[in-house]
Amino acid sequence: MKWEDICTRCGLCCHEKVIHPDALVIDTSQPCAFYDEETHSCTVYSERFAKCPRCEKVTPLMAAFGRSLPESCGYIVWAKRHHIRFRKAVENVIAG
Ligand code: SF4
Ligand code: SF4
Repeated sequence: MKWEDICTRCGLCCHEKVIHPDALVIDTSQPCAFYDEETHSCTVYSERFAKCPRCEKVTPLMAAFGRSLPESCGYIVWAKRHHIRFRKAVENVIAG
């Protein structure tokens, strides 16, 4: 399986978020300017890091330790399944 195939294309990471110590709040009313809400995809995928300074590359390290992805993210689920998720689960608040 390719690394990119782990993403379920939920699009949650392409919205504004606030990271609290015990919760991740994602505002679904504020998508990234490059997020297509119809297709749930990025309109500048191949050049996303150049176009969008806030766009984060998801790596295995991020899946293991990161704070910015929701518990439902395919990469977090993948890391948990492989016993390499080393950050305590936090409440996810999906607002918007
Ligand atoms: S630029 Fe990044 S954050 Fe914005 S829609 Fe594309 S993948 Fe999502
Ligand atoms: S939150 Fe995870 S599964 Fe959802 S679009 Fe972002 S990287 Fe993919």
